[in-house]
Amino acid sequence: MKAIMLSINANDCELIVSGKKSLVICRTEPKLERPSVCYVYHTKTRNAGVRWNDWADCLRLPNGEFINAGGKVIGEFVCCGIMHPFSDLRFMAKQSCLSVDELLLYSHGKTPYGLRVADFKLYDKPKELGDFRKACQYAKCEKENCPHALVKITDRINLLTGEQEFYALDGKPKWDVEFIGCANKLTRPPRTWQYVQTL
Ligand SMILES: [Zn+2]
Repeated sequence: MKAIMLSINANDCELIVSGKKSLVICRTEPKLERPSVCYVYHTKTRNAGVRWNDWADCLRLPNGEFINAGGKVIGEFVCCGIMHPFSDLRFMAKQSCLSVDELLLYSHGKTPYGLRVADFKLYDKPKELGDFRKACQYAKCEKENCPHALVKITDRINLLTGEQEFYALDGKPKWDVEFIGCANKLTRPPRTWQYVQTL
C-alpha cells in the first residue's frame, strides 16, 4: 500500500496533535488512489543564524506533557481527500491554521494542494527515520530480485542460537530463500513529502 511521509515543522505538529489543523498543505500532489497513511516527521529547529539548545524541539502534548520530537516520526494520520488548487482560499487557509497571505506566500502565489487529516495517531514513543523504508523503485521489489531484499535462507539455522538466519543478498539469491521485505531504509527526511512503505 502506498504511503507518504511529510516533513512538518514544530508549530504545525503541535496544531495537528491538538486537532486544530485538519489540512496539510503541499505544493505538489501525492498520487494516492485511496485513503492512505501519512507519517508525520517532526523537523528539527534549524533556523539560519539562530542557535537553540537541545530541548528546543520539544513537542507539547494535549495533556501538557513534553516529549523530545525533533528529527523523529511522531505519529500518523489517514489522508482522506486531497483539496485541489482553485479551492476556496479562505476555507483552505482556515483548515490549515494559516492566513490567506501565508498560504499564498507558501505556494508562491498559486493555490496549493491540501491533504485532509483524519484519525491522527500519536505514537507512544516517536519512531526513527531508519524504521521506515523508501518506496522501492525496483519493479521486482516484491520478490527477492530487489537489490535491497532481505531474505530468510530457509534451510540455514544458526548452530549457536538455533534461529533462522537473515541475509541481504544484493538481489542475487543463491539458496532457497524466502522474501522478508525490502530493506531500502530512509536515511534522510523528506524535503516536503515522499513516498514510503507502510510499516
Ligand atoms: Zn525493494
